[in-house]
Amino acid sequence: MQDDSERTRALLRRTSDRAAVYLERLGSRRVAPASSDVAGLDSLPPGLPDRPTPAEEVLEQLDRWGSPATVASNGGRYFGFVIGSTLPASLAANWLAGAWNQNTYTEVMSPAAWRLEATAVRWVRDLLRLPEGTDGGFVTGDTMANFTGLAAARHAVLERAGWDVEANGLFGAPPITVVVSDEAHVAVGKVLSLLGLGRDRVLRVPADEQGRMRGDRLPEVEGPAIVCAQSGNVNSGACDPFPAIIDWARARHSWVHVDGAFGLWASASPELRGLNAGVEGADSWAVDGHKWLNVPYDSAIAFVRERRHLVAAMSSAASAYLAVGARPERQDLTPDMSRRARGVDAWAALLSLGRSGVADLVERSCRHARRFAELLRAGGARILNDVVLNQVLVSFGSDEATARTVRAVQQEGTCWCGPTTWHGSVAMRISVSSGRTTDDDIERSAQAVLAAADRSVRTA
Ligand SMILES: *Cc1c(COP(=O)(O)O)cnc(C)c1O
Repeated sequence: MQDDSERTRALLRRTSDRAAVYLERLGSRRVAPASSDVAGLDSLPPGLPDRPTPAEEVLEQLDRWGSPATVASNGGRYFGFVIGSTLPASLAANWLAGAWNQNTYTEVMSPAAWRLEATAVRWVRDLLRLPEGTDGGFVTGDTMANFTGLAAARHAVLERAGWDVEANGLFGAPPITVVVSDEAHVAVGKVLSLLGLGRDRVLRVPADEQGRMRGDRLPEVEGPAIVCAQSGNVNSGACDPFPAIIDWARARHSWVHVDGAFGLWASASPELRGLNAGVEGADSWAVDGHKWLNVPYDSAIAFVRERRHLVAAMSSAASAYLAVGARPERQDLTPDMSRRARGVDAWAALLSLGRSGVADLVERSCRHARRFAELLRAGGARILNDVVLNQVLVSFGSDEATARTVRAVQQEGTCWCGPTTWHGSVAMRISVSSGRTTDDDIERSAQAVLAAADRSVRTA
């Protein structure tokens, strides 16, 4: 009989083979699963069996019924939402870190996880050209990174007003004015509701035709205030005018938070960093790893210029931030206590790419987006935005024709694009965020989209 270690080794080997086959097939399968593949999920046990199932059989069922019912968003022809793929080094590091199963709560629980995360945070900070001294922590996604940055903001502006929000909460606190753009991502509203700042209790600033906050339309405010700016509009890819917003905020002692889920990565490219000019003047920033850095889910970083505000907002130890010279634990920098060593995936991605590789990943996606737009325009579609980053908005005529085309593209399976609303009309949104996308993927996908548009018009 095999001993446990041999059985485990065989299981992991077999699983890595299954994963490799899955990845190899991504290029040739339909992007959205066929309905028969989704129906296969019904073959999984509906109720929890009384008896154990051998591990190899568990994996067999998962691969046989689960893999075909996935969406091939880890491949090169998925352009929905803003979804990255996985770099090989990052995926493999994620597996090894799974075997380590380290808790990243304190340094003593894992010196390796602690060092790797601190290094990855510093590397990303430098790549994004954020100020020296800025610190941050890994969280599950950009929504939680916004939560973390805005919690630090809430602390700082109320501390200045003589109120300890961590100890006393918001009841009776001086009111905070929150300023957002009409084009802020829905994640910002969700986070404001979680923080007790109120999704609707905001002053809205109009946006221009590309979706940038109008720097000349910022309101007058009194007392503690936070302004939420954006790098990378989820539809158009446009970035807010940071110098105007930051000047406005400085004059009013307000905090500037930047939601930079994918757009902040433009700062890693010499060609594109002009889009983020001035962004380093903000106080906090949120950025995803699982979108454009092509790190496995779930991964994002919250950065705060003055670490003491972050620690004050996140630490479980009251007043821990007052200890002069004390080095914070990772748990003092994020909402979590126990959690996986998610920074390891990002560390591996960054080391495998190097500075030039990150710039290339970002520039290549933008080049693909421009090419996609050019091919669709040549085929008669209308491009609705300036393609300054990796996002393209397309119209195929009426709302009805565009919606029909989007459905037809998804149905046909060569690629996947989603619908959105842009200036009150239906548009197809294309986001090129995968390191796996090739020139050929773009040519094939553009052909498939134009053919779907053609069919949609003919059957209208
Ligand atoms: C994707 C996105 C979010 C939400 O990020 P998650 O990683 O899904 O939590 C917030 N803001 C912008 C601009 C985004 O693109």
